[in-house]
Amino acid sequence: MRPPEDRRAGQPAIGMVSLGCPKALVDSERILTRLRAEGYAISPDYGGADAVIVNTCGFLDSARVESLEAIGEALAENGRVIVTGCLGAEADLITGAHPTVLAVTGPHQYEQVLDAVHSAVPPAPDPFIDLLPASAVSLTPRHYSYLKISEGCNHKCRFCIIPDMRGKLASRPAHAVLREAEKLVEAGVRELLVISQDTSAYGVDIRHAEDRGHRAHITDLARDLGGLGAWVRLHYVYPYPHVRELVPLMADPANGLLPYLDIPFQHAHPDTLKRMARPAASAKTLDEIAAWRAICPDLTLRSTFIVGYPGETEAEFQTLLDWLDEAQLDRVGCFQYENVRGARSNALPDHVADEVKQDRWNRFMEKAQAISAARLSAKVGHIVQVIVDTVDDEAATCRTMADAPEIDGNLFIDEGFEGLKPGEVLTVQIEEASDYDLWGRLTDG
Ligand code: SF4
Repeated sequence: MRPPEDRRAGQPAIGMVSLGCPKALVDSERILTRLRAEGYAISPDYGGADAVIVNTCGFLDSARVESLEAIGEALAENGRVIVTGCLGAEADLITGAHPTVLAVTGPHQYEQVLDAVHSAVPPAPDPFIDLLPASAVSLTPRHYSYLKISEGCNHKCRFCIIPDMRGKLASRPAHAVLREAEKLVEAGVRELLVISQDTSAYGVDIRHAEDRGHRAHITDLARDLGGLGAWVRLHYVYPYPHVRELVPLMADPANGLLPYLDIPFQHAHPDTLKRMARPAASAKTLDEIAAWRAICPDLTLRSTFIVGYPGETEAEFQTLLDWLDEAQLDRVGCFQYENVRGARSNALPDHVADEVKQDRWNRFMEKAQAISAARLSAKVGHIVQVIVDTVDDEAATCRTMADAPEIDGNLFIDEGFEGLKPGEVLTVQIEEASDYDLWGRLTDG
């Protein structure tokens, strides 16, 4: 639930429970922004809300269970519940478990969610608050914001049901993305986190059309966004050949594009990747990584992997470990394969036993942690720029350009930090490193 805010007498209030990934968070922010613009208050708790929207996630079976539980909790605490998001695509499942929900809408069906709110809790007209708010409602701290550039995906990875739930790639026009980004920066956002299901495919569906002077291609968009004066971080980039065009932009700090690529490699063995039906399954990723680093030595690489995918042999897994040794990624996440209802991988032969998955996960994480620790300790002594996220009595919690919020590590300043403000960009000398985090002290730059 959101933090409290002022509410005038008689103003209808809506609560929001947002589950799932950053992309779902962006949807929640858009819905709340529209509701605020229409004069609704946003309630921080169930008790103060006239109705509650639950934005669900339906990706993994565990996320579906969590979503159904969240709907049940909202019903028990408030009783008037509107469901949206990925699990909303399965209305029968939701109404079967919770027949008293007021409405169920699917992912990114903003208008339907608003219609459901209007009929559950009619807006109270007010000439003073019927003006659009100066800035969008943000569920993330004000100094960074997610920026969604497209919906859906044209791929058919066997373990993934996102294309079934979210449809084919649908890119926003570049001028619309830029206008939103400009407004965010004007409102004080210092870091833009570009998200989509497949960021490097941006604009393919609209043939990279140029509209109002802006071409819908990730290289052009990254260049345009980088000119706004905020940090720009790219997530969910696939290693297509044209990613090489982005790296020289990252190599020059004047371009504003952070030297950071979040690329979900998922595996390294070509046979596993083929069974996954991954895009770029045959790409020579180690060669690509070496080429990127030759252009931009400070490049940070983050990725996610799946271990224990159906049919994964010990030899395939060992290839992944060897690949990791060579790739020396800065940050990695690893998941043990799990069946997802509706995914084509469920029907593959030779599912891997749970204890084997666990053992591979342990071995993978041990190696990843050692690589992360070594790469962080090599940074001790370096002078870097950081952005402040929070300040409390003990330290300022910051991030370097190599750290995305919520998923990567932090840099802590525990001396002379009093008076620092979230969103400030500072120059720091790194003094100490642990497996995932850094400590540093302020310098004069
Ligand atoms: S690229 Fe694959 S994993 Fe990513 S959203 Fe598309 S189908 Fe899913």
